[in-house]
Amino acid sequence: MRGPDSDVLIVGAGPAGSALGGLLAAEGIAVTIVDKQRHPRPKPCGELLNPGAVKLLAKMGLAGTLEELAPARILGWIMCTPGAPPAVARYPNSATGLSVARSRLDATLANWAVQQGVTLVENTRVQSATISPRPTAHTIEADGSRAERTARVIVGADGLNSLMASAIDPGRPAPGEPKLSLTAHMKGCLGEQADHRGLGVLHVTDQATVGLAPISSSHQEWNVTVVVDPRRFGRAVAADPELFHQGVLLKALRDADLEPETPLVLSEGPWASGPFDRPTRRVSARGMLLIGDASGYFDPLTGQGVYRALRSAELAFGVMAEALTRPGEVPSAALLRRYSRQLRASVRPGRALQRAVEWIVSRNAPRRRAFTRLAANPRAADRLLRVIGDDASILSFLHPEFLLALAGVSRGYDNESVGLPDSRPDSHPAPHPDTHLKEVR
Ligand SMILES: Cc1cc2nc3c(=O)[nH]c(=O)nc-3n(C[C@H](O)[C@H](O)[C@H](O)COP(=O)(O)OP(=O)(O)OC[C@H]3O[C@@H](n4cnc5c(N)ncnc54)[C@H](O)[C@@H]3O)c2cc1C
Repeated sequence: MRGPDSDVLIVGAGPAGSALGGLLAAEGIAVTIVDKQRHPRPKPCGELLNPGAVKLLAKMGLAGTLEELAPARILGWIMCTPGAPPAVARYPNSATGLSVARSRLDATLANWAVQQGVTLVENTRVQSATISPRPTAHTIEADGSRAERTARVIVGADGLNSLMASAIDPGRPAPGEPKLSLTAHMKGCLGEQADHRGLGVLHVTDQATVGLAPISSSHQEWNVTVVVDPRRFGRAVAADPELFHQGVLLKALRDADLEPETPLVLSEGPWASGPFDRPTRRVSARGMLLIGDASGYFDPLTGQGVYRALRSAELAFGVMAEALTRPGEVPSAALLRRYSRQLRASVRPGRALQRAVEWIVSRNAPRRRAFTRLAANPRAADRLLRVIGDDASILSFLHPEFLLALAGVSRGYDNESVGLPDSRPDSHPAPHPDTHLKEVR
């Protein structure tokens, strides 16, 4: 039997695949990444790099490269819902989010991986993968021919509807909560105050969630993502996605009293995605593992997907660099299981918070109460955003009194009563009272 084509074959050149590929290749490991698409390609996403993701990219030496993309600096979010005053949550000055079109970000990361020594093969789709006698991906190559690509480890970094996840876990659970998103890029200006303050806007009703954030430092281009229940709105979306997207956006702008200075005009999209709730029970096997969305995804609301993609790549890198030290061998299931354990420990607390946030936000009365309480307590709102932004440990929020207060069940709270010392050196003042986002009634 001839040797494997490469040490590592990664399926998918999104943030997870490119990050892992680049890290391994920099250590002299032979890595091939195959992707069914060609960069630059659109990816339906809110396009926020939260502070945790920004830090991981900086750790990979990519801070300067990121700046060259002229991203928008996201200082925080305005959260609006009918019947509650708008709540403003800010990141600390030292750790803001960045926002840039995924087509540009992902192409840049893939290019970085190639510079580290990765062989990138685009327009090549993996159709199936087998483990015995050795890890093999069965592909349709760019010229339409069928091929087999072998490696000591095959990594599934193939996103939400991962084929590799089904290869490792044939009984992978069906998607949970049905949700459908439409993402578009729009040109225009959202109004001076929100614009200058660099805040994204999250508008939630019982019909739709709308997220708006600038994706360039000029603040002239915006990501507008709309999420709805396909059981209620699937037909309307299918009939005319553009019209539906526009209609929901206009209603959200009106509700939130946000007057665009110059009209927002569709420039790209809308791109559809969903459902999102894709648990993965098993993330490793002999000679195979899963990273990024392929290793399990819950919901886009909290904008943590890229952070988790990069973090899972970082964990997989640590385990694989060690597992590949014996030349020629396929790493055993036991060796790679260490990655499963580390990943589980890393994502479990965040998932619990995501589920709590989803539970509250999807119910009218708890959502109204939670937003009202966050509006009244900007420091708690900031702190929540910091945890959601993967910039602070979740542990400080697991105090039941805080969660109950967030759900609007108990009466009021402050940082002291829930054991949350305000240690942040650069906390922000409360939002200026004459914000143009008036109370939504
Ligand atoms: C509506 C929406 C909004 C979101 N908003 C945010 C946000 O604001 N911030 C945030 O951090 N996260 C957000 N996310 C989540 C984020 O987009 C993902 O978590 C992130 O892209 C995961 O990266 P990945 O590398 O695992 O997968 P992907 O980025 O999906 O990359 C997977 C790659 O695999 C390739 N591929 C797939 N199948 C095959 C195959 N069979 N053969 C070869 N190649 C294949 C694809 O072409 C693709 O390039 C959002 C997601 C959605 C749907």
